[in-house]
Amino acid sequence: MHIYLPDIKRQKGLPIDVLLESSLEDILGDSHESGQVEASFNVSTAGNEIILNGKIEVQTITECSRCLESFNLLYYIDVNEVFTMETGDKSKESTPHSLALESAETLTVNGDYLYLKEYIRQVIILERGNSNLCADYCKGICAGCGKNLNITPCDCGHKEDEIDERFLKLKDLYSDN
Ligand SMILES: [Zn+2]
Ligand SMILES: [Zn+2]
Repeated sequence: MHIYLPDIKRQKGLPIDVLLESSLEDILGDSHESGQVEASFNVSTAGNEIILNGKIEVQTITECSRCLESFNLLYYIDVNEVFTMETGDKSKESTPHSLALESAETLTVNGDYLYLKEYIRQVIILERGNSNLCADYCKGICAGCGKNLNITPCDCGHKEDEIDERFLKLKDLYSDN
């Protein structure tokens, strides 16, 4: 996942389209996250800056946080980013200042390549929420019998307040002691 900068500098400011593809496992460094990442960028340079516009498309199989079924999740992340090219002095490379720049998403570029794997990894981690739903209307799992309510309506007669009642009785029992 890198861009060869001389290709872009040769354009003298005119943008070029770049398509980068990788597996999600490779980007995240986690073999449990299977999926595909496709980044399509419009890249141009202006002075010391590399301007990146486009989107990252992530396709993955994940677990619904409501019904716990695996499902296919597809999402897009818009990218509008400006990277600064380091022109001279490579001895500055690992100063706290340049490290701070990296963590502030303004990656400093040295040499002929703009390496985007770490940047894309951070963007994906920031963007994906903790709650993934297979559908907005996902009914989830019955707290009484554990049935997936999207597949079968449950007839266990469970109601939210029944649990609360039992729980309260239990609490009384313990507070008497
Ligand atoms: Zn679900
Ligand atoms: Zn039930």
